[in-house]
Amino acid sequence: MTKAKATVLIVDDSTTNLQIMAAILEQRYQIKAATSGEQCIAIATKHKPDLILLDVVMPDMDGFAVCEKLKSLPETKSIPIIFVTGLDQVSDEEQGLRLGAVDYIAKPIRPLILSARVDTHITLKQQQDKLHELAMIDQLTGLTNRHYMLEVVGQKLARSRRHKTPLSILLIDIDHFKSINDTRGHLTGDLILQKLGEFLKDQFRIEDSVTRFGGEEFLVILEPCNEEQAISKAEDIRKDIEALRPGNISITVSIGVAELSSRDLRFDQLIKRADEALYEAKDKGRNCVVTHSLPKAV
Ligand code: GH3
Ligand code: MG
Ligand code: MG
Repeated sequence: MTKAKATVLIVDDSTTNLQIMAAILEQRYQIKAATSGEQCIAIATKHKPDLILLDVVMPDMDGFAVCEKLKSLPETKSIPIIFVTGLDQVSDEEQGLRLGAVDYIAKPIRPLILSARVDTHITLKQQQDKLHELAMIDQLTGLTNRHYMLEVVGQKLARSRRHKTPLSILLIDIDHFKSINDTRGHLTGDLILQKLGEFLKDQFRIEDSVTRFGGEEFLVILEPCNEEQAISKAEDIRKDIEALRPGNISITVSIGVAELSSRDLRFDQLIKRADEALYEAKDKGRNCVVTHSLPKAV
């Protein structure tokens, strides 16, 4: 399979300049173009290019303002920006780098210099993306891990509060997993975790994050979903897992449920309630669902 070409967004109010740069890069990169700062921000937010070549002097919003804006938005802040400009004052270069640009290229464009700088920063970006992915994905199950979940959860909570949509979590823990490892071996234990991970990924919508939260513990964030719906979903999942027999071995899970309340100031308070509910489920004999309610949000 051939790898998709990296995307470079070129921003310049002169279409001649756009054409010159596109002609140099289009063999190796997918090119997107913008002729204003506003257009650059719209395209960058929507298409998330791997690199932006940004003119400084443009009518309306100049390149420095565009750079500042892109660095302030979570969805664009990690896209590398190279300024391409006719300004040749060292202070301009300093200003660009201070705003978070990775490099600075002077006009008139010299094809070899443009190509070399773009290649270098695209390679760095791809390496950085790979490392980020490795750090966020659990290697055994392919699910996202606890780090990833903690990175995205702030946005989810903010959205739920802003739109007043309910958000619930399920903490799913395999029962007596230690004894499965002890009697069947660790490799069988790993296989069960893989199969259960696949099953959970299939059971939830794409926007419901399923995370391997700990060794044999999975966390699902359901949104929009109130406590009652979450309990019903958890009960279905519990029954399905009882019938699943991953790796031909019967397993059961206990599930702790909690819905976000206005009293939860931080995500760990919600987790704590789900964890207490899970503990209670274990105490009640396992293979069951328990919820930990708080009074409804006011
Ligand atoms: P409970 O019903 O109370 O949850 O009992 P448990 O045995 O499932 O819980 P406990 O926390 O005592 O043990 C969890 C076990 O999960 C112990 C650990 O060896 C196992 N485990 C954690 N991560 C992995 C893994 O990646 N692979 C395998 N095979 N086992 C793992
Ligand atoms: Mg367990
Ligand atoms: Mg556990």
